[in-house]
Amino acid sequence: MSLKGKTALITGSTSGIGLAYAKSLAAEGVNLLINGFGDADAIEKERLALEQASGAKAIYSGHDLTKPEEIEAMMAQAAEAFGGVDILINNAGTQHVAPVEEFPLDKWSLIIKLNLESAFHTTRLAVPYMKQRKWGRIIQTASAHSLVASPFKSAYVTAKHGLAGFTKTIALELATFGITANCISPGYVWTPLVEGQIPDTMKARNMTREQVINDVLLAGQPTKEFVTVEQVAAIAMFLCSDPASNITGANISVDGGWTAA
Ligand code: NAD
Repeated sequence: MSLKGKTALITGSTSGIGLAYAKSLAAEGVNLLINGFGDADAIEKERLALEQASGAKAIYSGHDLTKPEEIEAMMAQAAEAFGGVDILINNAGTQHVAPVEEFPLDKWSLIIKLNLESAFHTTRLAVPYMKQRKWGRIIQTASAHSLVASPFKSAYVTAKHGLAGFTKTIALELATFGITANCISPGYVWTPLVEGQIPDTMKARNMTREQVINDVLLAGQPTKEFVTVEQVAAIAMFLCSDPASNITGANISVDGGWTAA
């Protein structure tokens, strides 16, 4: 079955992995709601490029996903434009690196709200449309940190482990409705999120930039290569396909062997 004419809502898709999902789905003729922050002109350029690639419609929501009422407004926007959502990709996320006793309260709260709670809200709002259509795909960008921990990332590891548990639960609840729910768990992918945590890690571990890249980021990734955004998006495309209809409640690692160790 082709994905043409279906609608995908991808959170945090103005950048990095989320934008790669959007490009891959556009290539299949999928209507898109892209979401996230960034420069308005750059986002509009991406939106137009997605429409051109898909021959379908792409709309933009700048809603802040740390706020449940804004998530409701984003879903209302999707419902108005497309009548609902078939593919939900919970991808928006952020990171903060600090020892637990110094972890800023506002950063803890931001990470739990954005990386974990927003997926609950988007899911509860999207599922009724999927149930109506007897088809749906819920995909989380989790992380190797949904399976294992690293020091100084208490909020992120907590949120991603929570997301993995949430996904298994909804997979069971939705199994008889033609709706699958899965996590994709990348290791280190070269995106602005990874680049942004280098200065904090340099400070927390008293290291140079090169030491952080080689001795922290790629230390646990046996391939010694960053994962690419295209490799992550390719897994999502497979999960949307018919042969993947019996893959649900899974947590698929794309981490260069990190979690095999
Ligand atoms: P990124 O920083 O490039 O993208 C994050 C996206 O989230 C952006 O579009 C940003 O505008 C959006 N965003 C941030 N705050 C938001 C808010 N309050 N409301 C709405 N949108 C918001 O990062 P990325 O590396 O592409 O990360 C995407 C996802 O992948 C995250 O969930 C991250 O935890 C996960 N991940 C990344 C890596 C990696 O190495 N890059 C590894 C594993 C998992």
